[in-house]
Amino acid sequence: MLDADFFRRWMTATAAAVDREAERLTALDSPIGDADHGSNLQRGFTAVVAALAKESPETPGAILVLSGRQLISTVGGASGPLYGTLLRRTGKALGDADEVTEEQLTDALRTGVDAVMTLGGAAPGDKTMIDALVPAVDALGDSFAAARAAAEQGALATTPLQARKGRASYLGERSIGHQDPGATSSALLIAALDEAAAA
Ligand code: ADP
Ligand code: MG
Ligand code: MG
Repeated sequence: MLDADFFRRWMTATAAAVDREAERLTALDSPIGDADHGSNLQRGFTAVVAALAKESPETPGAILVLSGRQLISTVGGASGPLYGTLLRRTGKALGDADEVTEEQLTDALRTGVDAVMTLGGAAPGDKTMIDALVPAVDALGDSFAAARAAAEQGALATTPLQARKGRASYLGERSIGHQDPGATSSALLIAALDEAAAA
């Protein structure tokens, strides 16, 4: 079973990964964006960690809902509302249980990813965070490690794609040949899930 501590570890490990990789995320956002993805997420996940410490939500659902709300209110870019929606909707789907199964988490994350697709209008293959998140959820039934590998593979596979959503889509064919920053940060989010499970 996955308890509140697991979900706190997930958010803390994501914040640490975003801190560690902020420069790389911003560098990826430079040729096909506005060079702020790393700093956007750093600001957002710093606020997440602070809010979790201050408000001490007690259930998996409440932890993710609070985290999502922080991202929506602190991240200026497109990724804030999108990641915020992912965590908020995943948290809502978990309800108020003290512990959840891996299967319940998988189903809840699928609900969250679907909400991101509805909000942003992106489908798999559009060169966005969706290209890491959808394969991760599909693999999560097997294991956290499989989901992590699938997300990393999905992020790498965005390089030859032409962007059809977000700022990178303004570049048309010139977006080809660059890895998508949001898919890359989504791989960090899913890797942090595997880290939380291993701890
Ligand atoms: P901004 O583009 O506003 O500066 P960020 O740089 O923080 O925001 O985030 C950019 C990332 O957001 C992209 O790399 C992409 O993965 C993701 N993204 C942008 N628009 C969408 C969308 N409509 N649906 C899903 N993901 C999107
Ligand atoms: Mg940007
Ligand atoms: Mg921006």
